[in-house]
Amino acid sequence: MKNDAGSLMRPDALPESASRPVVTPLSPSVVYASDTPDMLDRQYDGDLHGYTYAREGHPNADVVAKRIDRLENAPHMGVVTASGMGAVSAVLLGLTQAGDHVIGGNQLYGRSLRMMTEDLPRLGIATTLVDPGDVAAMRAALRPETRLIFIEVVSNPTLRVAELEGLAALCKERGVLLVVDNTFTTPRAIRPFDWGADIVIHSLTKLLAGHSDVMLGYVAARDRVLNDRLRVFAVTAGLNPSPFDCWLAERGLLSFDLRYDRAQSSAAQLADTLAALPGVTRVIYPGRADHPDHARAQHLLDGQFCNMVSFELAGDRATANAFTKAADGLSFAPTLGDVGTTLSHPASSSHRALTPERRAALGMSEGFFRVSVGLEDPEALCRIFRDAVAAATGT
Ligand SMILES: *Cc1c(COP(=O)(O)O)cnc(C)c1O
Repeated sequence: MKNDAGSLMRPDALPESASRPVVTPLSPSVVYASDTPDMLDRQYDGDLHGYTYAREGHPNADVVAKRIDRLENAPHMGVVTASGMGAVSAVLLGLTQAGDHVIGGNQLYGRSLRMMTEDLPRLGIATTLVDPGDVAAMRAALRPETRLIFIEVVSNPTLRVAELEGLAALCKERGVLLVVDNTFTTPRAIRPFDWGADIVIHSLTKLLAGHSDVMLGYVAARDRVLNDRLRVFAVTAGLNPSPFDCWLAERGLLSFDLRYDRAQSSAAQLADTLAALPGVTRVIYPGRADHPDHARAQHLLDGQFCNMVSFELAGDRATANAFTKAADGLSFAPTLGDVGTTLSHPASSSHRALTPERRAALGMSEGFFRVSVGLEDPEALCRIFRDAVAAATGT
């Protein structure tokens, strides 16, 4: 039958509604149909906005990008990628070429470090790792061919604070791009563009999406040309995100500021609780006066000291094992920014490849833990830690 709409594989149009949904619709469509070749031409030329193919962009990704643009004061629409590492890759692989030199913070996220030490050199890009709290050392590491400096504001897992202002001034003076991974600190604590960063990266997987059910990244550049290059590289390399992940991330972002505030205030309380326990030899929290970078954290982070606390138990691996077993109800899992508190143990996970001596030099013994504080009742959370520390250390 010629006009039987029921036999068409695709609807002519969606059901009409004068009213609008209050929740962003999920758009899993990979392809978008245009009316004519002329129209498609205008879409590709950019004088008509319209989606074409989901790798090139889709509504759910753009909704998420615009939300983070607002949080970060990004001047152009950022690029949402399939993971935080997708965003890191877009910058390190999409903006460099053989012969360039790249400087990274010496305590970057593990996979970022790996890309610096393994992948970039393989492609003819030299790399150097430098303490981002030491501007003089960064200056000394600069070469004429240095393209960018890539840092995190607060390092993982020892929670040292970068000299962001000094680095921004240095990069400006030398015409080097300053790239900041703002995953740990989030735009609630600092907006790197406001401090002179050229590019901002996020793993949305962590605090921004916040529920450990989405893996996504984000990257935006201050300069329009660079921002476009990042987008083109992400499209070409297939770093595009799934619409469903974007849809979940948007939902997570709606409560980001509330989750952040709760987790942060609990983190401060937990840090003080841990510091008072006899079985704990060291507590690292940038909000505490005994933190080596406390003054800098206060200056840069606007009184927001984040939800991450690291601490050291008196003892060895057996003590660490006893602690995670006794810390009932907390996930021992290598992530951060989840609604639930998670524990990570660098000696057996992120820093397992290092020798014990090297780890000791970085201040990470077998008793060293990093805590990502979640949304539990803070009193109950502190009680779990008090009991588990007592059980593990016999104190
Ligand atoms: C997790 C993380 C990444 C990588 O993000 P994925 O979404 O896991 O790919 C990058 N940087 C930091 C600081 C992270 O914590």
